[in-house]
Amino acid sequence: MLLQVKNLNFAYGDVQALWDINLEVGKGEVVALVGSNGAGKSTLLKNISGLLRPRKGSQIIFDGEDITNTTADVRVRKGIALVPEGRQLFAGLTIRENLMMGAFTRSDVKAIQEDLERIFALFPILEERQAQLAGTLSGGEQQMCAIARGLMSNPKLLMIDELSLGLAPVVVDRLMETIQTIHDNGVTVFLVEQDVQAAFQMSERGYVLETGHLVHSGNSRDLMEDEAIKKAYLGI
Ligand code: ATP
Repeated sequence: MLLQVKNLNFAYGDVQALWDINLEVGKGEVVALVGSNGAGKSTLLKNISGLLRPRKGSQIIFDGEDITNTTADVRVRKGIALVPEGRQLFAGLTIRENLMMGAFTRSDVKAIQEDLERIFALFPILEERQAQLAGTLSGGEQQMCAIARGLMSNPKLLMIDELSLGLAPVVVDRLMETIQTIHDNGVTVFLVEQDVQAAFQMSERGYVLETGHLVHSGNSRDLMEDEAIKKAYLGI
């Protein structure tokens, strides 16, 4: 397993947001976590990336190593990249500058340059517009830039929070294709989505989070056929 989350509990002050979360992502998998607004999806990603600290007794294991007590930058160095909800680009910096921010933990100049070229091949529009301010990009292009920034840390695990947020379905489809290519190139992907259909179509396995509890897990195709899930999330 690349990522194991064991008995993870988290509270904002007195308000518990995650309850006994147990979840795994295997090397080479695409795994989806779905759930409605406020279910706790972003909170879980922030715990995994080290931006939030879980309660005592929780455990996060990455690539065989217990990282529960490490800082966020150590986790980036070990290979965990988060593409945050709402992209969170530096609007006043250029695309290229935003991408270089993604490589802040690295000092291998040559490898960084090679990765930049690989990423530009994946997103040609970012190369064309590399000198443009990120704040002037369309929503879909900003999401490309955020994913590309995540890739600049050369991650083993790419975690994407709400890829589809605010984007037209055709743009989401195109981004999902790119995620597939990134996956084919050897990066494990953990997708967090409100768009249940897109998430399950893209992934091999999935989890459903409801008000801080994991309530379903399994093969994505089976989850999509599950009557309770269809009713709750697919409007069928
Ligand atoms: P969304 O897609 O809307 O971000 P989510 O599933 O990612 O939803 P979270 O943002 O993780 O959900 O929120 C989980 C719960 O924690 C919600 O009840 C939310 O109100 C609460 N919460 C989130 N951030 C904070 C915070 N900084 N302080 C207190 N409570 C918070």
